[in-house]
Amino acid sequence: MTMNRRELFKISGGIAAGLAAASTGPGLVAQSSTASNKINLSGNENPYGPSAAVLEVLNQSVTDANRYNYGIQQELVKDIAKKEGVDPEQIIFCSGSTEAIYSTMMACMSHGGEAVTSELTHGLVYQFAPATGGTVVQVPLTSGLEYDLDAMHARVTADTKLVYVCNPNNPTGTLIDGNQLRDFCTSLPEDTITLIDEAYIEYSDDFNYASMVDLVRAGENVVVTRTFSKIHGLAGLRVGYAIAPPEIAKRIATFKVCRFQGPMGVVAANVSLNDTEWQDFCRIKNKEGREVVYKLCEELDLDYVRASGNFVFFDPKMSYAEYNKRLLAQGIIGARQFPIKQDWARITIGTTEEMEVFAKALPTVIGT
Ligand code: PLP
Repeated sequence: MTMNRRELFKISGGIAAGLAAASTGPGLVAQSSTASNKINLSGNENPYGPSAAVLEVLNQSVTDANRYNYGIQQELVKDIAKKEGVDPEQIIFCSGSTEAIYSTMMACMSHGGEAVTSELTHGLVYQFAPATGGTVVQVPLTSGLEYDLDAMHARVTADTKLVYVCNPNNPTGTLIDGNQLRDFCTSLPEDTITLIDEAYIEYSDDFNYASMVDLVRAGENVVVTRTFSKIHGLAGLRVGYAIAPPEIAKRIATFKVCRFQGPMGVVAANVSLNDTEWQDFCRIKNKEGREVVYKLCEELDLDYVRASGNFVFFDPKMSYAEYNKRLLAQGIIGARQFPIKQDWARITIGTTEEMEVFAKALPTVIGT
């Protein structure tokens, strides 16, 4: 009989079940399947979920669900600030980085103006622009499907209130070199704010070099957004934050609707923040999974982009509808359609076992 993680948790009391199911990593727990029993490789979630230490604290925190618990959020914000090397006032704790991006856009564009970004990047900037009253200027990618920073720079005008850079980019997975991005940010006009969406940064090899948080520390007009949804495996608990220079942080905070997040998300984030062993494990597993996809693409002669996130973008050489249909027939949910490259596919890296299933399935899907 197989049980999903929730069932195991109920029967054995959380952490005990988590440890009993541990097999291939530090505190690794059994993986939940989707309701349809298909493997889900579509949502860029962490397939290993939260660490065992986080599950333990979550189990205990259930009984605090009746409390607002503002105090524990303040403690977490202090810890995040310490880790990022900024003052607690510079951390805007949010309901996922979605809210951090929304609030930053509102802070910069609520009187209109333009956000400059790249085509084929994360959709939130397009989704939120109408609410701000502003518009989005979309700059083409390079032929290698990378952000074209020079072309973006050239599109910045007096109307540009915000420049949005997703690094690593979703869905292409590319990472901009740290110093190249630093030069870009610091060469923009002084009143233009650059929003760096670092949702996937911890999956990149040298993420301290790649992150722009040092520019925030240096007082540049840069806002960095981060999330506990990806490498921390807490997408369902909706915790993320923005890191901003003090004056911009104050403005961003005024656009937040709720002053504090749910206590379970906060306690989970608190433990996960310092659980570097778990993050290292997830980073290594993810890298192995990316290599599986690269190898497959090479064997099947498919174009792909080398990635720094927990997903790989490749060309299955067939229509989106056909790829989706064939992948589903193999028991895998994985197809997502993106503008510009509508027939390219993004596959989220799953567990080692899920990637083995994908590796067996892809040649059949491609038709070799
Ligand atoms: N930014 C990027 C690039 C994403 O891919 C996502 C979600 O997938 C988000 C932000 C929002 O994530 P969350 O609100 O869960 O932090």
